[in-house]
Amino acid sequence: MGRKFFVGGNWKCNGTTEQVKKIVATLNEGQVPSEDVVEVVLSPPFVFLSMVKDCLRSDFQVAAQNSWVKKGGAFTGEISAEMLVNLGVPWVILGHSERRALLSESNEFVGDKVAYALAQGLKVIACIGETLEQRESGTTMEVVAAQTKAIAERVTNWDDVVLAYEPVWAIGTGKVASPEQAQEVHCGLRDWLLTNVSPEVASSTRIIYGGSVTASNSNILAHQPDVDGFLVGGASLKPEFIDIIKAAE
Ligand code: PEP
Repeated sequence: MGRKFFVGGNWKCNGTTEQVKKIVATLNEGQVPSEDVVEVVLSPPFVFLSMVKDCLRSDFQVAAQNSWVKKGGAFTGEISAEMLVNLGVPWVILGHSERRALLSESNEFVGDKVAYALAQGLKVIACIGETLEQRESGTTMEVVAAQTKAIAERVTNWDDVVLAYEPVWAIGTGKVASPEQAQEVHCGLRDWLLTNVSPEVASSTRIIYGGSVTASNSNILAHQPDVDGFLVGGASLKPEFIDIIKAAE
């Protein structure tokens, strides 16, 4: 089954109104492959979501960077999945390593969030990835399998899930995984889905790579058989994001 290339842009906690307008204007002018070839999803900070959604070209979509684990209510500072649905936001990024590390989000908590967001009708970019210490100790597959298991145990329908493999050591460091390193883990994850979920889910789920993706390394990474796209941080705030999208061709 063909897996449509997916490129997400995670703006993290960056931008002013003026900067956001400028980035959107640049993206709106960019020449990119058609929607049949690539799905592009931008994730601005919450406060800019409506603005970006309203002025972004119609072939690009938006994602929130987080959502609360259950129905909204007395959870000061949180944003519920229902609110995102109400705003017309189709996607949410969950389990980003910055939240796992800085806010102590456990595998189980991330799995619960993924399940809740999906149940409300959101599509989810679920992030997993090992630290440098874990890679050096040879436990990469074990770590990403455990992270994926916590999601798989709570999710029955994978149609709306994109799995983002983001090695922590590659995020924001300029140290991109080699194409071989990325392919090895993506292939391992697909095998894991095959064994533990189903052959259909293994062949249809998009597994995207994130971690210091730039215009210059995106082409070779995109050619790996199990790399179905990217989640891009720093470079998604720059005009080169357009060239990264073109790696889908
Ligand atoms: C990210 O934040 O998801 C990310 C991959 O960041 P960067 O591209 O800057 O490494």
